[in-house]
Amino acid sequence: MDQSAKKRPRHLFAKILLLLFLFVGIAGGSWFGLIPQRFIPLSAISLDERPSLLVDPRLSALRFDPALCRTVLKEPFIDASPIPDRLTDNNCGWVNAVKFTHTGGAKIGVEPLTCEMAAALTLWVQHEVQPLAREMFGQEVVRLGDMGTYDCRNIVGNPFWKGVRSQHAAANAIDISGFTLADGRSISVLRDWKSKGPEATFLREVHRRSCRYFRVALGPEFNASHANHFHFDRGLMWTCR
Ligand SMILES: [Zn+2]
Repeated sequence: MDQSAKKRPRHLFAKILLLLFLFVGIAGGSWFGLIPQRFIPLSAISLDERPSLLVDPRLSALRFDPALCRTVLKEPFIDASPIPDRLTDNNCGWVNAVKFTHTGGAKIGVEPLTCEMAAALTLWVQHEVQPLAREMFGQEVVRLGDMGTYDCRNIVGNPFWKGVRSQHAAANAIDISGFTLADGRSISVLRDWKSKGPEATFLREVHRRSCRYFRVALGPEFNASHANHFHFDRGLMWTCR
């Protein structure tokens, strides 16, 4: 019998295994923000267009790259300015974070929020929230209701994660309580989520559209702790509810 015929399946198996390891390595590296932009086969994420491909790895590439952040986070989309890194010895603090007063045409006072999250938030407001507000209400959102970003604490409201640091402890999360339209009308997660009007449709749709930018997007359907806000973060978990 031809000996090479016996070897061929083994070589094929080894090649498949190698490709699998490579794929898992790249996916894992990207998940932790360790794949630099130069190794991603697409241009850096840009705030002026709605990204369609490889959104998550292109956002992750910002995590440890302040220089890339400075080129991506720009006016007129966001007035971000970098703030110094701060890490505390109780597992809190932040790296590569920014502060800003507007994003996607809406006012908000934020300090600090990681660069990666600031980019995700801006993409969501600019390319999902504002187009839907124009379509449904004929006007833009001028203010976002902000319930905070940084908080040195553990995850609350879920006994399973008791003792685990929240992404808020790394300034890698933001809580949004609602929206104010140009005519002064407010849309509140607490008041309007369960209503029957267009405000509820708007809230449910912007929440659904947030899933492509944030790894974790939680709303009132998740648990009672989120009855009055959306929680968005780009930590290591992945859920949209
Ligand atoms: Zn939160």
